Amino acid sequence: MRFEVSQVLDAIERRLGTDPALAAGVLDVAEMMYCADLDGGAGRPANLLRLGLVIDALARQVGEEQVIAYCVVDKSLLSNQDLTSNERMVMRRWADDGLVEVIQGAAPRVVEVSELTGLPVISRALPSTWAPIPGAGGAAMNPRNSIPHGPSQTGQRMMSRWWHCPDPECGGFGPLRRSTGQPIPRLRGGQPGCPRHDAPLQDTGPRAPQQVLAVRVDGLIRTRFVVTAAAPVVVGRAPEGGGLMLGQWLGEEARAKVSRSHVSLSLTQQGITVTDLSMNGTTVKLGGAADGELVLTKGAHRVLGASDLVELFPGVEFGRLGALSSTRQLDGSVVAEAPTMIFRPN
Ligand SMILES: [Zn+2]
Repeated sequence: MRFEVSQVLDAIERRLGTDPALAAGVLDVAEMMYCADLDGGAGRPANLLRLGLVIDALARQVGEEQVIAYCVVDKSLLSNQDLTSNERMVMRRWADDGLVEVIQGAAPRVVEVSELTGLPVISRALPSTWAPIPGAGGAAMNPRNSIPHGPSQTGQRMMSRWWHCPDPECGGFGPLRRSTGQPIPRLRGGQPGCPRHDAPLQDTGPRAPQQVLAVRVDGLIRTRFVVTAAAPVVVGRAPEGGGLMLGQWLGEEARAKVSRSHVSLSLTQQGITVTDLSMNGTTVKLGGAADGELVLTKGAHRVLGASDLVELFPGVEFGRLGALSSTRQLDGSVVAEAPTMIFRPN
């Protein structure tokens, strides 16, 4: 039974992140883990696995298979006796790895993160975009308010800089987080600070501009990814030297036709440029195909329009986040493998 619980916690772990560009919503972990009605109310008062039910509901709501949730953990949870010692240990590890944010006073922080970044709030207790309710497969999202209109000006300014925490162990603003974005600093008296260490952050320079894109394979948004002006990103079946690897989502025919390194994306002042690197070429669907298509062959490049989609093989495509959406229901789940017994009292 322990083994199954830890598998589900590992699956939840892959849906956590504090880069606002990649997250689809922000939530207070303490609130979610006490929502006993999500699993029928028969289990323990608090259960960290309920976070998985809420993340599943978020994935279905926004139609993103590998949805990421920006999770705020109240410091008191790290010693909360309603949780198992394993759950407390796992949360401490998530915090150390910068996958969740730890702060004294999680609820007001969720509101602050949303105001600064434009992320929708997932909550019953706070003013929110969605409130988790019992539903098919565990939880569903009850729509409340509209999605925020993007980040505030202060938030935009802070997200255009790199920040450094004086604590050498800091998971959020330490030296190792540079390639994958950063959490949003907290503001106290107008000064950016580290949520966990309650220390002023040092501004260490400008961040390269970035654009967020999404990959759709066979009608489902699979993941988001970021292209920055700092370095090109290669997209393909299995790009050598890193990049966005699509292989896991490709069927047999697509695997044969999508090159290991299929296209390269770069961000310049002109916008996102796509350069074909492939054997079989790349189709650019202008305006999402409304304005026709053109085919790029090896070495050819094209600046993408706001709603253009790039197709590597029929059904394997990407574009700016918001330019494409899932065209069928999500069936995957982070807690799907969890037997119902893990929610019963122990
Ligand atoms: Zn810190």
